[in-house]
Amino acid sequence: MKTKIGLLYGGKSAEHKVSLQTAMAVMKALDLEKFEIHPIYIDVEGRWIKGPELTAPVDDVKALQFSEGDKLSPAALAPAVFQASEQEKDSLDVVFPLLHGPNGEDGTVQGLFELLNIPYVGNGVLASAAGMDKVLMKNIFAQAGLTQVNYVSFLKKEWEQAKEAAYAKVEAELDYPCFVKPANLGSSVGISKCRNRAELEAAFAEAFQFDRKVIIEQGVIAREIEIGVLGNDEPECSVAGEIVPKKDFYDYTAKYEDGNTALIIPADITAEEYQKLKDMAIRAFKALDCSGLVRADFFLTKDGEVIINEVNTMPGFTPFSMFPLLWKHTGLEYPQLIERLVNLAKERHAEKQ
Ligand code: ADP
Ligand code: MG
Ligand code: MG
Repeated sequence: MKTKIGLLYGGKSAEHKVSLQTAMAVMKALDLEKFEIHPIYIDVEGRWIKGPELTAPVDDVKALQFSEGDKLSPAALAPAVFQASEQEKDSLDVVFPLLHGPNGEDGTVQGLFELLNIPYVGNGVLASAAGMDKVLMKNIFAQAGLTQVNYVSFLKKEWEQAKEAAYAKVEAELDYPCFVKPANLGSSVGISKCRNRAELEAAFAEAFQFDRKVIIEQGVIAREIEIGVLGNDEPECSVAGEIVPKKDFYDYTAKYEDGNTALIIPADITAEEYQKLKDMAIRAFKALDCSGLVRADFFLTKDGEVIINEVNTMPGFTPFSMFPLLWKHTGLEYPQLIERLVNLAKERHAEKQ
């Protein structure tokens, strides 16, 4: 019996286009002897649409052919998408949300699958939600004793009511350069590096366009090292990789448009540094109660200090993204990585029953 896999792609977030690339790659990689693919597309307005399969890169979503009748509101999607008929045997066996950012990676869609009682790939509701909010994630890491940069955060209301006081607090607690980020995004959207007060003011205004909460972090001069973690209750680490942006920092264009950023795998680090990174990656995974996968991202300073930056609960997942490449170098090819994730999803689901 083939595994009926629902591939959920697109989505309302800024990472919509990235998701299309991922979906195409996963569809191509799945072994059709083992899997029956059920593509589910979420358009930029959040409507769920059955199919189509992606066979070539999609630059323009409008080029995809949908019939009006395929459009579903999320409320209607449970019976229509997940159960082709009333019979249980026709429901999907597993869903793989190939989505990034809000509404995809933040626990919302994961909650839907919990309600529908369908196994899904990747992190559960709690880890997804906590991992999406950089302030909550950092608070949890602090509680777990993980080394990280100093940070402060503000709500938009607090900033609007006392802008001078907000800037003064940042300057009292942090040094320039600092980084201002929307609390709930990814892919570097809305992030600015600030070297002075004028840049700080502009950065607040920018970040608040994306979120009602921002985080301001102490900037560090360090290498950026990433580790893949895979598993449920007994997670394992991949080799480490280094990101070398040819820019001031790893911003959105460096991530998706330039093709200029070098990924060095395995990273040129000492055995001792690798051990530290692995320990911290596993501690971070457990602190957030993760399952399935995360990519744990670190700063490594000149004197060998390891600082955790973040974990990404649904890291970039094209065959050229860091997470799959890290596992390839660790001995797990892309199609096997996908199968492993599907099995981890089923295992977690079975444990809960
Ligand atoms: P995202 O979740 O959008 O990837 P990150 O917090 O990872 O956001 O920030 C994006 C990039 O900005 C990082 O990969 C790094 O290049 C740079 N950066 C972020 N925070 C800092 C910091 N505190 N010090 C130095 N560089 C930083
Ligand atoms: Mg991130
Ligand atoms: Mg990042």
